Amino acid sequence: MEKILVVDDSAVQAAQLKEILDDAYDITTAHTAEDGLRLASSEAFSLILLDVVMPGMDGFTLLKRLQEEIVTQSVPVILITSLSDVTHEQRGLIMGAVDYITKPFNAAIVKARVNTHVKLYRYRRQAEQQSMTDQLTGIANRRRYESYSRKKWKEAIRLGAPFSIFMFDIDRFKVYNDTFGHPAGDKVITAVAQTAASHLQRSTDFFARYGGEEFVAFSLGDSAEQIFGHLKKIRQAVEDLHIPHDPTVAQWVTVSIGGVTLIPKADSSFDSYLKIADTMLYDAKKHGRNQVVWADERMKQLWET
Ligand code: GH3
Ligand code: MG
Ligand code: MG
Repeated sequence: MEKILVVDDSAVQAAQLKEILDDAYDITTAHTAEDGLRLASSEAFSLILLDVVMPGMDGFTLLKRLQEEIVTQSVPVILITSLSDVTHEQRGLIMGAVDYITKPFNAAIVKARVNTHVKLYRYRRQAEQQSMTDQLTGIANRRRYESYSRKKWKEAIRLGAPFSIFMFDIDRFKVYNDTFGHPAGDKVITAVAQTAASHLQRSTDFFARYGGEEFVAFSLGDSAEQIFGHLKKIRQAVEDLHIPHDPTVAQWVTVSIGGVTLIPKADSSFDSYLKIADTMLYDAKKHGRNQVVWADERMKQLWET
């Protein structure tokens, strides 16, 4: 059941709305704007019904606050106004409320408007989800990586926590495609993605398809030695899939991995460290592939073989 938040200083009015919507939705009520704001940021609501006139913080102020918070800014807000109140209606809609309902409530109209906006919000979330997912492998795509990495990088700067950036690339994959065909190559990309993803499941890990047969990942909190050790296991797990390669280049399909761990400072640039990860990947390729090469905080390299 989708959740709706009703913010209304009148307990009677809030109870009426709850009664109208209770059979189809999970309704939470707040009687002050402050409580509404707190609830809206701590739970995932699909819609907020907001009374305009309230003592203390009014509905317009709350609407503005909701739009400023990342977690609440996309949740649709329907304003509750009184019939005579055209100026409130106008101001609220201009501010970004999706709709309004008028008091006294007409149950059928309230239900219809609520249903429409809950449905639209669901479609929008699905579309957003799809636009962030790589169609072939089902893991995060480049777009998701671009937005999420910046956010996590800032978080690492704030926490002063070690941040690791790493890149994976399937070895001699052009030969694989030439020998076995593109559809078979697609299956390999998927198998490699899923194997690596299954080892990067902590809430502090992130793994995405960067493009083609390349993947990018980052992880928060581990030392260079810890994450290097973990990546060696992932590299081995891919080899252990025992996907036959073209025998003229290798027995099995393998990956090379390059990465760097550092504690980012306020003026550190994400892109310059991504470039270091890429250089480590290049070194792994140059030294025979199927290996992990890492750089630590002092740019000392860790080699697998
Ligand atoms: P290296 O070990 O140096 O990485 O060699 P490589 O052959 O893997 O590298 P290169 O970058 O020359 O070739 C990458 C190949 O990956 C080219 C293309 O045939 C293949 N490829 C890229 N994207 C896809 C894809 O979506 N599906 C399939 N099947 N193949 C892809
Ligand atoms: Mg490549
Ligand atoms: Mg490659």
